Amino acid sequence: MSQPSHSSVLPQTELTRHRRLREQGSFRRADLDAILDAGFVCHLGVIVEGRPLVVPTVYGRDERVLYVHGSVASRSMAGGTPVCVTVTQVDGLVLARSVFEHGVNYRSAVIHGTVRKVTDPDEKLEGLRRLTEHATPGQWSYARQPNRKELAATTLLALSLEEASVKIRTGAPDDGDGPDADLGVWAGTLPLTATWGAPEPDPLLPPDIPVPAHIARREGTRHG
Ligand SMILES: Cc1cc2nc3c(=O)[nH]c(=O)nc-3n(C[C@H](O)[C@H](O)[C@H](O)COP(=O)(O)OP(=O)(O)OC[C@H]3O[C@@H](n4cnc5c(N)ncnc54)[C@H](O)[C@@H]3O)c2cc1C
Repeated sequence: MSQPSHSSVLPQTELTRHRRLREQGSFRRADLDAILDAGFVCHLGVIVEGRPLVVPTVYGRDERVLYVHGSVASRSMAGGTPVCVTVTQVDGLVLARSVFEHGVNYRSAVIHGTVRKVTDPDEKLEGLRRLTEHATPGQWSYARQPNRKELAATTLLALSLEEASVKIRTGAPDDGDGPDADLGVWAGTLPLTATWGAPEPDPLLPPDIPVPAHIARREGTRHG
């Protein structure tokens, strides 16, 4: 049975409704997709033994689901529990006339839901492929794929992308037309851009193994 297609607007729920900095909020699914595609590290927030634990981890995704993985021994990988996943792209500092108005230009997404442990072998392999390909397109078919023992040692969690919110801040400081405009203090933005560097071969790599094209071509580019 084919699944109904995602709405282009993210549903506003009690969890995703913005209360503060609402002007920065977006409920466009296209903005969520763009933020997820621009990064490959998320922060997974989960309650473990009654305490919050937020772990940075890589992710992959398809149109509807975000995948994260870890060791079967990992306490954050229990599955079946409510979680909150955050993905943040920092685009620069906003340096205002007053420190109160300082800020960050950013794009961020917060996803709420209950994680599902993936047990179907085909979905598990496909989820792991998406995770690998999300960080390094072309790498799944280049490197050795996981064997049975490695798959058994790995937990894959799936989180629906249905209940998610987005915030985006762009542009100049907010105090250019306020009383502090006369202070004579420099104000503006300091952009931040992360690009991939030159590949550094493992010192143990035989010298006759070239850098594959799918890795070499990323130098100087941004992720996503
Ligand atoms: C790099 C970075 C630095 C920041 N620094 C600060 C800071 O120093 N001080 C500060 O007050 N705020 C900062 N923010 C904004 C901050 O993330 C919150 O949006 C803001 O503080 C409001 O939080 P709240 O709990 O009152 O949000 P609420 O409006 O109560 O949150 C309600 C719901 O809105 C959604 N939501 C909230 N924040 C975000 C978000 N950033 N992205 C996507 N969805 C969101 C969530 O679904 C949440 O459940 C920063 C954001 C980024 C990305």
